Amino acid sequence: MTRILLVEDEEKLARFVELELTHEGYQVEKAFDGRTGLDMAEKGGFDLLLLDIMLPGLNGLEVLRRLRKSKQTPVIMLTARDAVMDKVTGLDMGADDYVTKPFSIEELLARIRAALRKQTVQKKEDSLLSCADLTVDVSRHRVTRGSKEIELTGREFSLLQFFMENKTIVLSRDQLLEKVWGYDYMGETNVVDVYVRYLRGKIDEGFEPKLLQTVRGVGYVLRDDA
Ligand code: CA
Repeated sequence: MTRILLVEDEEKLARFVELELTHEGYQVEKAFDGRTGLDMAEKGGFDLLLLDIMLPGLNGLEVLRRLRKSKQTPVIMLTARDAVMDKVTGLDMGADDYVTKPFSIEELLARIRAALRKQTVQKKEDSLLSCADLTVDVSRHRVTRGSKEIELTGREFSLLQFFMENKTIVLSRDQLLEKVWGYDYMGETNVVDVYVRYLRGKIDEGFEPKLLQTVRGVGYVLRDDA
């Protein structure tokens, strides 16, 4: 079920919107001030936020600014008529859309559907990486080459994901260590070579073309030469 957080201090308006959205099949939770709204939004689990700008405590723009440090939940701002600056600032700060008060419920519903659709498309794009016939579904933690499913360990998966995200870019051992192992590695840098070998054995052995290639004296690159 799609969960919407409504942050709006005008309680009558909030109840009306809640009623209409519930009627449309959305699950709605309400906050009447900015601070509470931000807390709830940061805990997560919402598919969309409807965020009023003029709020007690933190105003809507401030809620948005702080929220965007950790969450990319779609946000539709509810703005007062003619508050052009608020709209511009809101969009600049990462709001997805805005609706001007007073709004019709039909308009609000249309904006909500549009924002949720956009979100679904983005999620799909974000989670599917590919190079030739090699595909990594990040959200499902699934790797396939052609029609064959490939089992990777956690570290191998992280390494492959990083190669996929930087397809065609030559990556040095140091870069790989820092990004995939995530610390100033003090031991042998050949840990990268070892894992690249493991990974090759799984994604390239028995397949053509070979995707994970060595660039002598520099590092490794994932690319499709075919
Ligand atoms: Ca208000």
